[in-house]
Amino acid sequence: MESVERILFRQLFDPESSTYTYLIADVYIQEAILVDPVLEQVDRDLQTLEELGVTLRYCLETHIHADHITGTDQLRKLTRCRSIVPQNPHTICADRQIQDGEILRLGDIQIQAIATPGHTDSHFAYLINDDRVLTGDSLLIRSCGRTDFQNGDAGKLYDSITQRLFTLPDTTLVYPGHDYWGHAISTIGEEKCWNPRFVDSPGDPATRKSRAAFIELMANLDLPIPHKMVEAVPANELCGKTL
Ligand code: FE
Repeated sequence: MESVERILFRQLFDPESSTYTYLIADVYIQEAILVDPVLEQVDRDLQTLEELGVTLRYCLETHIHADHITGTDQLRKLTRCRSIVPQNPHTICADRQIQDGEILRLGDIQIQAIATPGHTDSHFAYLINDDRVLTGDSLLIRSCGRTDFQNGDAGKLYDSITQRLFTLPDTTLVYPGHDYWGHAISTIGEEKCWNPRFVDSPGDPATRKSRAAFIELMANLDLPIPHKMVEAVPANELCGKTL
């Protein structure tokens, strides 16, 4: 039980981009990790770190974002934390790349990288201490990330979610990178049963959509391009440095 009290886990929200940032801290060693920080929320994140009495060690990205600029570059300048991105990231600014299956440790925090390409070609989910998974823009609550730009691939996303995430224990908590409908947390079991992108009859996990049906569904979403994409992608390729 000691590790339960020792680890702090906070879900933080940016209302403009509907992005969730996660702060995970080990209060014994007073060190923390931020996952997917947002540039406009750097002051909030710094204040939260200060109030919790922890030092930022790493900024970890699930992928290169198209809808917001990462806070990593600012946070790195202000705290001297190190930035970590998934392997083959289309960026050379990060301090380190993490590999599929690698485990990042900070005190009692254990973060296992799970390659989940499809939303972008370099995208990772992160399993935290075996009981919760940060899914970035792969699996969202009752939805999933789009696949129509940044080398997105609906077939790869289907494989990532059905073979890498849906094979985690049903009780694993799901913490997404975004939510647009008021959800915050789900579980793998709940998403296998109720996510309409993956089942034909929500409530009946036996009606799992085929890979071909999922690809067809994703090809016909007809979503608008994120209004920040033109500035966000180049900035994020520089870890959030704005020109
Ligand atoms: Fe994204």
